[in-house]
Amino acid sequence: MDPHAPLGFTPAVGDTDLTARQRSLLALARELGTSRFAPRAAQWDDSATFPQANYDDLREHGLLALCVPADQGGGGADFATYMLVAAEIGRHCGVTALTWNMHICSTLWTGVLADGIPMTDAQREEHHRRRALHFRRVVQDGAIYAQPFSEGSAAAAGRAPFGTTARKVAGGWVVNGRKIFASLSGAAHYYGILCTEDREGVKPDPRDTLYLAVPATSPGVTVSGDWNPLGMRGTVSRNLTFQDVFVSDDEQLMPRGVYHQGAQTWPAMFFTLAPTYLGLANAAYDFTVQYLRGEVPGEPPVKRRMYPTKQVAVAQMRIQLESLRSLFLRAVREARPAPSKDERMRLYAAQFTVMEGANDIARLAIRTCGGQSMMKHLPLERIYRDSRCGSLMLPWTAELVLDRMGRETLYEAGERDEA
Ligand SMILES: Cc1cc2nc3c(=O)[nH]c(=O)nc-3n(C[C@H](O)[C@H](O)[C@H](O)COP(=O)(O)OP(=O)(O)OC[C@H]3O[C@@H](n4cnc5c(N)ncnc54)[C@H](O)[C@@H]3O)c2cc1C
Repeated sequence: MDPHAPLGFTPAVGDTDLTARQRSLLALARELGTSRFAPRAAQWDDSATFPQANYDDLREHGLLALCVPADQGGGGADFATYMLVAAEIGRHCGVTALTWNMHICSTLWTGVLADGIPMTDAQREEHHRRRALHFRRVVQDGAIYAQPFSEGSAAAAGRAPFGTTARKVAGGWVVNGRKIFASLSGAAHYYGILCTEDREGVKPDPRDTLYLAVPATSPGVTVSGDWNPLGMRGTVSRNLTFQDVFVSDDEQLMPRGVYHQGAQTWPAMFFTLAPTYLGLANAAYDFTVQYLRGEVPGEPPVKRRMYPTKQVAVAQMRIQLESLRSLFLRAVREARPAPSKDERMRLYAAQFTVMEGANDIARLAIRTCGGQSMMKHLPLERIYRDSRCGSLMLPWTAELVLDRMGRETLYEAGERDEA
């Protein structure tokens, strides 16, 4: 692929400045998206099964290792490059982009993000030694990592310690607890869990959060529960139970205490769910334009573009899409450790705008295209259902973002009202 050739399409993030590497990755995502992921998308949705065939494609094209550092044999992509490529994948299959995010984060957080988290020399040495094992698994074995944090408590919202615990024993940890909404359950080779270090006699504390990789085949790991949701059905986000599961010290994805510090230092680490939904917003818009022009393959070539109300709706969708893209790109480009207050506010605003906006654009798309457009053989109704899920993702649900923005605007750090 010639990295200097014109892209020939507008990427999901818009026609912005891109490096040669980003252009060639976007062209690859587009090629895989149109030729493989989009044609298969209905299948995962119908059967609520994991998009295994897409993962074979991601693996074959080096995309499972995209964010593993280059000196460890990976693609060496930075935060921004991942975000641009993920949006393009989400445009063709939301489920693939969302689950790929869970996998990628286990390499992005331990890779380029961890490089920006303060650590002692000893912690840094330990981290580099241990992460090499995980990177090798992804690069050499094509291993898939999941990211089950949620427990149905305030923990995944960042407001309480995780109920899943890890007790130190010789050579490793013994894990007990339960996770809900574990995307990639049954498909991942490793579950990258957050849990609280069980320090006997010490009150559980979020500062004692551990980030551990639990091999899926470990004795004591079980997947349970039904999975029949509204949208994002191919994520197969079932429950995970850990009963006296032993994991070795080498499974630590970050040294003790570092995850908590990372979450404080690098807020943009929680923004990585947004590109999936920017991709879905593009998909709803793309479909609408094609449909109103009478150009959807396999459909009668009926044009509907001559009605002024439909033209107005398309204009509204485009205005909304441009604002999603602009805010998204600005937040991506500003992402760094210890952002300023304005940057943090913009990050929250970008998350909220993309998550709520994607479903808004999909809603307008259905209203504008009309009844025949929401039949199951067309992608729009699935895009509508999938796009509804973005605002529910912890820790930055739409509600919690509003909550944070309001509080952090009106109170400076440490400020309290008199009782
Ligand atoms: C398709 C899909 C895939 C998912 N995949 C994953 C995954 O791979 N890994 C993962 O960890 N999670 C995943 N999730 C879970 C997601 O991040 C949320 O945890 C989940 O949607 C929360 O559901 P809930 O009803 O339990 O949360 P809620 O009950 O709404 O919230 C949980 C807790 O958060 C706090 N909280 C929530 N809302 C507020 C508020 N407005 N104000 C103050 N506190 C509040 C409360 O303490 C509450 O008890 C997925 C969700 C979906 C829909």
